[in-house]
Amino acid sequence: MKITFLGTGVAIPQPGRVQSGMIIEIDSKPILFDCGGGVLNRIFESSYNHTDIDTIVLSHLHLDHVADVLCLIKANWLCDKTDVTIYGPKGTQQWISSLFEVYGYMQGKVDINVIEVAAGEVFAPDGVNCEITCASGVHSVPSLGYRIESGGATVVYSGDTEPCDTIMGLCGVDGVDGVGGVGGVGGVDVLVHECSFPIGFEVTNHTTPDMLASYIGEHCREINVNRLYLTHLYPHMQGHERESVEFLQQYFKGGARVAFDLLEIEV
Ligand SMILES: [Zn+2]
Ligand SMILES: [Zn+2]
Repeated sequence: MKITFLGTGVAIPQPGRVQSGMIIEIDSKPILFDCGGGVLNRIFESSYNHTDIDTIVLSHLHLDHVADVLCLIKANWLCDKTDVTIYGPKGTQQWISSLFEVYGYMQGKVDINVIEVAAGEVFAPDGVNCEITCASGVHSVPSLGYRIESGGATVVYSGDTEPCDTIMGLCGVDGVDGVGGVGGVGGVDVLVHECSFPIGFEVTNHTTPDMLASYIGEHCREINVNRLYLTHLYPHMQGHERESVEFLQQYFKGGARVAFDLLEIEV
């Protein structure tokens, strides 16, 4: 697998970081996870073409994760690519239908297959040899995190959340209620976890390095993650990147890093 971070920022603009989005490439197929504002242009700047995107997986419907979905669909349509499958939480079908009501000129031009998924479900996009497991985050709206396994490699993407049992259950926490069959499975190569605010910032529904460290500190024997990448940084995080990484480094054999737009990593 290969991860390309497209957008590592949030709803508030800042230099160098557009809103949320990343591509996970499996067997030469790019799967787009979230597609906030600026992500379409980042796809252009990456090693991918926007017309290569057949599958979009949404963590939740906040604007900073979906604002460029319709822009991507339109760009593809203009380039004669008219089909896409969108996975997302409950409400995704209604959201996309509402968009097409507003933008009537797009109706009938494109073929969009929406598949709503829920915590505990496992799915695989057509023609992609992988297993994607869903779990609920703790956020202000329903939000999903995903565990993506293929060819012996595993990545977990937290979506927007505070550190919680359900998302960490995707990382191999045993015996946690509500995790279903997920807990206790094999280790995770890369955890992409949101880290919205710096150490000491008072917040709920999002994560700070100290919140994540204290969760992992309590559960470190059950969490099996090699490398951590932090994403979804508010502008408040500027200048706090190094201390955040130093704070979390000790828990990850393969180290902790702050992701940046267009960073590519092999898994
Ligand atoms: Zn959100
Ligand atoms: Zn967000």
